[in-house]
Amino acid sequence: MDITADVKLLGVMGHPIGHSKSPVMHNAALRSQRLPYVYLAFDVKPEQLGEAVQGLRAIGARGWNVTIPHKVAIMPFLDEISEEADTLGAVNTVVCEDGRLLGRNTDAEGYLQALVEETGIHLEGQRVLIVGAGGAARAVTYALSRAGVSYIVIANRTLERAEQVASLASKWTESKAVGIDGIGKYIGDCTLVVNTTSVGMFPRTNASPFDPRLLPDGIVVSDLIYNPEKTLLLHEAEARNCTIQNGLGMFVYQGALAYEMWTGQVAPIDVMRKAVARE
Ligand code: NAP
Repeated sequence: MDITADVKLLGVMGHPIGHSKSPVMHNAALRSQRLPYVYLAFDVKPEQLGEAVQGLRAIGARGWNVTIPHKVAIMPFLDEISEEADTLGAVNTVVCEDGRLLGRNTDAEGYLQALVEETGIHLEGQRVLIVGAGGAARAVTYALSRAGVSYIVIANRTLERAEQVASLASKWTESKAVGIDGIGKYIGDCTLVVNTTSVGMFPRTNASPFDPRLLPDGIVVSDLIYNPEKTLLLHEAEARNCTIQNGLGMFVYQGALAYEMWTGQVAPIDVMRKAVARE
């Protein structure tokens, strides 16, 4: 595609941003559909966040993704926050409509679509253990608790944060908060286990968020990490005949949902997945 005056601006705003795979993923998708957009990485220091947002609005950017450390801090600079982003307390996508900036969050829906698509799971009646209680856990909890699961146990190193996430889940389903040492008591009855902690991520790949020998046979185990492709937890789960899923799908689907909001086109999931996997 030639860069002409019609080309619109998209991007991702974070700090640091050098390792983001979003530009490769979105530009591959835009090229494959011959759409007149370009997607760049914006390294924005926290003290310049407000200026960066006003600048992007002023130059007519169509929208952008928001990542660490700006997902919460950006909210006061936007004109409208969707209900989902408000409940999650974080924005990962901004859409600019006629100069108005709308904050959205596609992490929860992205996780749900990837989980169902990749594992074939029927969520109704599932008994769920979520390990971790950070931003990613909030998105996963929001998605699963509204999808008809029987109950959700949140286990986290810091119990107080697990309690906050369990309280979010309790709006839609039964929920309980425990420390990591409480996992052994509940995991035997669970049918879906999700790791939302960073434990097991490169370079500390020989770590697991809990003793994997506790995993029941044949359940679904999902790990939000995608570097490495298969964490120690997923290796151990596979050895127990579990259906496994890594975090690549969530990353692709959260991006695909944002892409659709900006361009109005159905996102080419396979192109996006291959572009990220190649990186
Ligand atoms: P976060 O808000 O910083 O939360 C980190 C979580 O990990 C907390 O629950 C924290 O427990 C726990 N944790 C960290 N180090 C630990 C350790 N040594 N032992 C036990 N628990 C530990 O981060 P986040 O944004 O939720 O991200 C969490 C993970 O999800 C990261 O690996 C991230 O890459 C991944 N993620 C993937 C996607 C995707 O698209 N696939 C999207 C978002 C995030 P405490 O509360 O006790 O500190």
